[in-house]
Formats: sequence, structure tokens, C-alpha cells
Amino acid sequence: MRFSTLAVHAGQRPDPCTGAVCVPVSLTSTFAMDGIGKLRGDFEYARSDNPSRHALETSIAAIEYGKHALAFASGQAASTAVLDLLEPDDEIVATPNIYGGTYRLFHNVYNKYNIKINVAKNSTPDEIKKALTPNTAIVWGESPSNPLLELFDIAETAEHVHKFHNKKNNKPILVIDNTFPSPALQNPLLLGADIVTHSCTKYIGGHSDVIAGAVVVNDDTIYERLKFYQNAAGAVPEPFSCFLLQRGIRTLPLRMKKHEENAYKIAEFLRNNAAVEQVFFPGFTDFPNYELVKKQMRGLPGMVSFKIHGNIENVKKLFAGLKLIILAESLGGPETLICHPATMTHAALPESERKKIGITDNLIRLSAGVEDAEDLIDDLKEALQNIKK
Ligand SMILES: *Cc1c(COP(=O)(O)O)cnc(C)c1O
Repeated sequence: MRFSTLAVHAGQRPDPCTGAVCVPVSLTSTFAMDGIGKLRGDFEYARSDNPSRHALETSIAAIEYGKHALAFASGQAASTAVLDLLEPDDEIVATPNIYGGTYRLFHNVYNKYNIKINVAKNSTPDEIKKALTPNTAIVWGESPSNPLLELFDIAETAEHVHKFHNKKNNKPILVIDNTFPSPALQNPLLLGADIVTHSCTKYIGGHSDVIAGAVVVNDDTIYERLKFYQNAAGAVPEPFSCFLLQRGIRTLPLRMKKHEENAYKIAEFLRNNAAVEQVFFPGFTDFPNYELVKKQMRGLPGMVSFKIHGNIENVKKLFAGLKLIILAESLGGPETLICHPATMTHAALPESERKKIGITDNLIRLSAGVEDAEDLIDDLKEALQNIKK
């Protein structure tokens, strides 16, 4: 089946008991048994599994073209589950541009297990390959990255990573955080990645009303380990969150088209505005790695980043002048959001690290919603007047 059909139907068939077309929210913590060791249905205790989460996991696995999916209470809980595959003294290779919270998890949580992070010089497959060490157990990347929208060749990276053997004679696991493109625009497992993670809080949920995450994997052994961890650690989403995510998934392909359309219009407008120094948008034919958009993606998410002339004072002026666009963390919702990565999404990075990867104080990230692009552009135009020299 094709993507939009899967988005509507996978894991979302009518309820066999009642015929309900939407998967009912299964609000129960436990399930009656018919005797010791005799489950009445498929479920025993809701943390271990429940109908709402099971349906959501079926749906996410299908739209990511993976064999298994596991849902978590947040994107960070999903990332933590993957990092729990590591043993003390294992190492991670990461692309330089990753979500600030992932950076914090690597450096400020897992460092106590003596897990070292080797950041590749840049995200080309060659530099990622050079960063591999005899202890590398996980290679972690984001494409397009948060917030600079850097792309790297996932298939070529997977090839390098899988040719390598660490000192335990294992191939490192290639993990792609696919939050930005969403499953509608890019499917890393089809490109050779081993694990896909999502912050479902963003495009998958799509309505800025739920925090959740997911992990998708093909390998049965890795799946069993993650499934064990999911139940043992227990950072699972509530059934109502699962319901909201499934509701979001049904319109994911439709929404992504509108986000993309608005992002193109906004990026084009920004590029021609005198107050703007630089626009980061992979839809521009002169954007670095533009050819990878065609090679590994089916379209672009609604993300546009840009630098304005001047310093943080001008950023403040711009934000103060916005009447429609909302200053807030997060992305992927129906409303257009704007944020200041240096003090918000990427505040966990030391200033020197931020500078090194290009997150300067005049950098702004915008998540185009699904409003009328003309209203968004009018709002930006007026706010940018505040800072025109
Ligand atoms: C938001 C985000 C996360 C973290 O997800 P939460 O749901 O907020 O825990 C991870 N990766 C990326 C790329 C994100 O944008």
C-alpha cells in the first residue's frame, strides 16, 4: 500500500467488537485474566502493552516502512531507550548538528557511564567514517538537522558504517533521528539505517497538543532488547496520547504538503529581505547538498532558519514585532512558531560548541504552520521593518 493509505488505515481498522472506525481510547491500567497464565485477550498490564499503544505502534511501523515500532512518553525517552543499548565504555559517533536535548543526553547523562562522544568534523560520509573508533557502537545523525537543516547522505553513511567492525566485532548501529522530515518525507530504514527515532511531539502528532516519541527498527534482536527496556523502564505514552498521535498520522501527508508550500514561500520572501543576512532552506537549488533532497527525500518539512543582520538586540526587535507568528519552542504544529536556538532549543550547548557549528546569536528558526502563507509573510515583513537600517 502507498503512504497516504497506510497513514489512514495501518493499525486503524474498525474495532472488531463494536465497529468503531477510530481506535477507542483504552483507559484501563490492567486486564482481567481467565486463570493463572491465561490472558483473556492480548494484554495483561497497560505499561507492558495496551490496545491504544499497540495500534499506534502498528501505524508508526507501517508509515516508516519498518518491521517494529515502540512508542515512548517523549522523543527524549525514545532516544534514551536507544542509548540504553550501549555498554559502559562504548562510544558514539555523532554528526555535528544535532538537537540540543540529544547533545545534553549524550554529554550530561550518559557521560557517567564513560560513554564517549566523537563528533564528526562535518556530516559527510567520509568524515563520519573517519570518526569511527574501535569502541564505536552507535552512529547518530539527523538529516535535515536541527536547526541548520544540513543534509547528509544516509545510504552512503550506512554503507561505511556497516563495513566497519568495532573491537567486539560488531557493526555499529546507525541511528537516524527522523523528526524533521517525518515518515512522510524520508524513510531512513529503506536507506540502510538500523534504527529510526522520532519526537512524535512534532509532525507526527502535528497539532502541538501531545508529547511523545517512537523508535522504529527492522532487526528482531534489537527490537526485543528495546521492548524489554520499554516495559522495564516504563517511559510509555498514555492511551489518550496514542489516540491523538493516530489522529495526527491520518492527515500527516496532507499537512506536510502545506508545511512545505508555506516554507518555500517564506524562505523565498526572507531571501529577498534586506534585513536578512542568510537563509538556510534545502529547497534552494544553491543550498549545499541540494541534490540529496532529490536523492533521499520526497519533499521538505516546513523548517526555515535564517540569520538577520546585527546582533541579538535585532532578534528581540523582530520577535517583539510579530503579531501572528508565535515565539515558542517546538515545531511541526498547525501554527507557525519561531524560536532563537542559541537560548532555546540549543541552550544546552556551551557557547563555544554553538559557535563551532554555526548557531550564532543572530540565528532564528521558523516552523511554518498551515496558515495562509501571505498572512505569515505580512507578519514577518512588518516585524522586519523594526530592524531595517
Ligand atoms: C523535539 C526534538 C527531540 C525531542 O523530542 P521531545 O518529544 O521533545 O522529547 C528530538 N529530536 C529532535 C530533532 C527534536 O526536534
